[in-house]
Amino acid sequence: MKDTELAQIGITEDQTGAIANPIYLSTAFQHAGLGQSTGFDYTRTKNPTRSHFEVAFSKLEGGQASFATASGMASIQLVCSLFKPKDEILVSYDLYGGTFRLFQYYEEQYNIHFKYVHFENYEEVINAISPQTKALFIEPISNPLMIEIDLEPYYTLAKEHGFLTIIDNTFLTPYLSTPLKHGADIVLHSATKYIGGHNDVLAGVVTVKDPDLVQKFELLHNMIGATLSPFDSYLLQRGLKTLHLRIERAQENARRLAEKCRTLDGIEEVLYSGQTGMLSLRLKTDINVDKLLRHTDICRFAESLGGTETLITFPYTQTHVDMPDHEKESRGIDEHLVRLSIGVEAYEDIESDLIQALHKSREGVIQ
Ligand SMILES: *Cc1c(COP(=O)(O)O)cnc(C)c1O
Repeated sequence: MKDTELAQIGITEDQTGAIANPIYLSTAFQHAGLGQSTGFDYTRTKNPTRSHFEVAFSKLEGGQASFATASGMASIQLVCSLFKPKDEILVSYDLYGGTFRLFQYYEEQYNIHFKYVHFENYEEVINAISPQTKALFIEPISNPLMIEIDLEPYYTLAKEHGFLTIIDNTFLTPYLSTPLKHGADIVLHSATKYIGGHNDVLAGVVTVKDPDLVQKFELLHNMIGATLSPFDSYLLQRGLKTLHLRIERAQENARRLAEKCRTLDGIEEVLYSGQTGMLSLRLKTDINVDKLLRHTDICRFAESLGGTETLITFPYTQTHVDMPDHEKESRGIDEHLVRLSIGVEAYEDIESDLIQALHKSREGVIQ
């Protein structure tokens, strides 16, 4: 992907010469006469500012159309609307907690089955397939354990069986990975994270390339109505312009920190895929997590990722709070695991902040 394309993404070409896009707040659009339309009628269906973002984003992904939604969860719900009772979907075992919660609801309420599999184990996935299997739902870098999945074999498998492959690409973004170009059917993002990039907009986006799916999502997006507002669409497009710079810097910071953390005393295990700014740390049992979270200064204790600021999250009671304890334990999400979304600050500041906080949070150290 070209940096130039990102820097100049979706630039306006109207008669004013404006470089930044206008925000069209209008929900209604006038018609010259019966049967006539400018292409815009009502904002839930289509809005110029949202379309601007969607068209630009779909191009980045190598898709035919993108659908911007009011949150990442709204994107996942939109995708769920494709399925019927008794359909079965094979899902990443180590999954975003909110997605797990929504799937549980769909299972109870609509009898759609979600079977959890380890996509890093191809045999296990093959054995899980049944005549009801309709789709694979994969997080290519698992959350919070950061296990990277090789997607290629699943594209082939899905073609053989006629499944849909659905990729939650939130961690990677089209800057690092464009699954539609390699065989995925549906790519979705929580655009709240790296796409927006500044912790100030809640959004999601679904992108597809198959004309049939484009048509289905056009209907569903308008019908369900969790479409993204014009203002938020503008913020996403603005965020995209620096995606390459933010990801490169966050990734470099995360790589250095992962390396450093492997040498630090209070850390049992460093979970890092080698890509993105996402990094989890399993702390030694003599580190008091509560103290650690109180003593970090640069790394802020907050629940999100993909922004310019380094955030530290405690999955056990935050992102994965709705997962039953035994499910969490079996996934290795325990009371010693913290997840960091590394930002674009100076590397030395992040490192020294973590080291001083680790030092102050040893059991027995009195502050
Ligand atoms: C945050 C997140 C979501 C949910 O998105 P929201 O924008 O919070 O609704 C889904 N998947 C992943 C991987 C996420 O990190």
